[in-house]
Amino acid sequence: MNESIPCPICARSNAVLTYSNINGFIAFECPCCGKCRSMNIDLQLNQSERLALSLFIATHQTGNWDPKFGPMVKTHDDAIAMIQGIEPPRNAIEQMNAVLNAVGELAPNFGQRTHAYNDFEWATFSMSVDPSVMQTVFRELMRLSYLNVESLQTNSGLKYTASLTAEGWERIGNTKKDTASKTAFVAMWFDKELDPIWNDAFKPVLSDLGWKPERIDKEHFTNRIDDEILRRINNCGLLIADFTGARHGVYFEAGYALGQGKPVIWTCNESWRTKMQTEYIPNGTNDPSIKEQGWMDTLHFDTKTYPHLTWSDAADLKQKLEDRLSALGLDLRGK
Ligand SMILES: [Zn+2]
Repeated sequence: MNESIPCPICARSNAVLTYSNINGFIAFECPCCGKCRSMNIDLQLNQSERLALSLFIATHQTGNWDPKFGPMVKTHDDAIAMIQGIEPPRNAIEQMNAVLNAVGELAPNFGQRTHAYNDFEWATFSMSVDPSVMQTVFRELMRLSYLNVESLQTNSGLKYTASLTAEGWERIGNTKKDTASKTAFVAMWFDKELDPIWNDAFKPVLSDLGWKPERIDKEHFTNRIDDEILRRINNCGLLIADFTGARHGVYFEAGYALGQGKPVIWTCNESWRTKMQTEYIPNGTNDPSIKEQGWMDTLHFDTKTYPHLTWSDAADLKQKLEDRLSALGLDLRGK
């Protein structure tokens, strides 16, 4: 089967349909996005969501999914969860910054060149709507001395390799400081019961105090601390770790953020105790004595010394978190 369809992810180019069945399952390969699978040819995405999702798919070709078909984007909600924290450029200046950031990530050492990529691939990495503008963007970035670009004629067409100049590195350093330091990464258990905590406490408090709240959905990063998570923690200005459910990933992410010198706020649910005793036994142990312990006592020994903010419900957490952030000078309003 080699039918061509407009790419259901990016709509920038045509994708080759590699598989489809009567239940609506499709697999396709797009020159911008790479391989992808979906249950739905219309994911109801707006243009910036498409660009963000295309970047996500292209940079997650390997992972927990079948390498033959690439990542699975079942529904609109899946797509939205995948692109949290990825923001496409809104104007020409942001577009140029996006290209510089992409080069910085693809060739992170000074003087290093990226691999050679074609217009489609560069459009994906820098979240450009139109691959045909890439040459113009490159030219402009070279004129401004931010970028060195070389074009190569290859068997599969014209490709470009790029490296950042000292001015380019300085520029992305400055733009990153502005946006990244205002991102608050929330590490928590992705249990449905905790949805109100995210929706009615973490998200509104952080937004109200001038932060950009961000979390990564478990579904797409099952039990795996991957480069994407580390990258996002590297780029955040604050990490909030909620230990409800005692997830190993949360301990790791909190520890990693501490090591990076980020401020970390420790929270956990006080009424989780009952649940813990009846349903959730920490670390999968069958030792009955562990059920005698209260929730706080089940926290891992070396984090107990950190002041945990214990909460009863979303409203309680909202209030306490706001107080704690203010007390620590982490209210960004007016900053
Ligand atoms: Zn595409």
